[in-house]
Amino acid sequence: MLVRGNRIEAIGSAREVRVPSDAEVVDGRGKFVVPGFIDSHVHGSGQEEIDPPLLLANGVTTARDMNGQPLLYQWRDRVAAGTLFGPRYVVASSIIDGSPTPLADGVPTIEVTNAAEGRAAVRRAVAEGADFIKVYVRLKPDAYHAIADECRRLGVTFGGHTPDAIPLLEASAAGQRSFEHVYTNWFDTSSAENEIRRRLAKISIKRGEYNKWFTETHPLEVLAARTFDPARARKVFRRLLADGSHQVPTLVQHRVFDLPDSITLHDDRLRYLPAATRDSWRTGLEQVFLAGRTEQDVAEHRELYRARVRWISAAHRAGVPVLAGTDTGTPYIYPGFSLHDELQNLVEAGLSPMEALQAATSAPARFLGLHDVGVVRQGAIADLAVLDADPLTDIRNTSRVHAVVARGELITADRREHMLSHIEAAAAGGTLATRLAGCACTPVLQHA
Ligand SMILES: [Zn+2]
Ligand SMILES: [Zn+2]
Repeated sequence: MLVRGNRIEAIGSAREVRVPSDAEVVDGRGKFVVPGFIDSHVHGSGQEEIDPPLLLANGVTTARDMNGQPLLYQWRDRVAAGTLFGPRYVVASSIIDGSPTPLADGVPTIEVTNAAEGRAAVRRAVAEGADFIKVYVRLKPDAYHAIADECRRLGVTFGGHTPDAIPLLEASAAGQRSFEHVYTNWFDTSSAENEIRRRLAKISIKRGEYNKWFTETHPLEVLAARTFDPARARKVFRRLLADGSHQVPTLVQHRVFDLPDSITLHDDRLRYLPAATRDSWRTGLEQVFLAGRTEQDVAEHRELYRARVRWISAAHRAGVPVLAGTDTGTPYIYPGFSLHDELQNLVEAGLSPMEALQAATSAPARFLGLHDVGVVRQGAIADLAVLDADPLTDIRNTSRVHAVVARGELITADRREHMLSHIEAAAAGGTLATRLAGCACTPVLQHA
């Protein structure tokens, strides 16, 4: 393969492709080339010495950030201008939610209470540089539908969580094209949907009471899992497919909260994160994820995780497009590394290794409207991961990254090692603070 500038110029054997004498040559014997990976759900930490290079070192050449803020728009623009070496970023608006939002004070959120505010929020977000609109759980129907309509008028897509007050199919019909996680999006496939919606409507929270919202939706999730109705599901999935709506299940994030026992506190990858991040993760794990769980809670969460996987499996079998996303910003989700874990989760959910690869390459590229990205072919953008072993025989091989090419720029195995040591040194420096809060997709430590 010959790369010139940021494009793939030719593909073929060493005999077929004329290699210019000044070309830098990478010996690819025994290696496997795949398109650079796309993580469809990240939250930038604001630490530019950590996230962008860690994503690249793991072969992630595009990231869809789910909570836009000025610094993240700058990252996107600097990467595009070549002044920051990182993945291509596609960045959401700040979270648009109803009022009061359960999100904590530090999470940039635009609260809207009616249609006019919903429209204004969309217009302002687009003017400020959002690539798409992110919707959240407490939006009321009038505001939600006004947001949907304004997005249509402006030609921007919107995605996010499924609001409590909006059934999945209503949201899909309104134009929401991505549904993140498997929380409130599986009520439509329950034979107890009416009861669930009645109880959901009664949930009342004050601003910042994320954990209360989480605790009160938990029994409804258990009920949805136990009353999954295959006949309803067939109809729901058929409609999602027809609408062109995507699921971004972030199973790797669900594992953290549903199966906290599976987290290893001595994970090798922790060395790439600053002490402050490691400490807050550990506190979150001990004080929120594990603390006070009864045996019944533990069993219910195990059951929920299995049910989420089954739900995604059924959606996938019905043809609903599934995208690989991780939710970095959540404790124990590692920028870059965790995408490879998610690919394993997707294979466990019934995707073939090829389909899992597509969920992290060609499918999100198409979804994001990125032309010539997510594919290996002549003329395409040279975003590539070079792997030491075949990912189609074992999906875990995607994590065996040998070299990376990002928009034509080569990261050799040596340079990659150097980048990783540099990240480790920056993390150990102790001067980095997490500057941005994510979308808190799992319960959070409530600060007094
Ligand atoms: Zn998120
Ligand atoms: Zn989320």
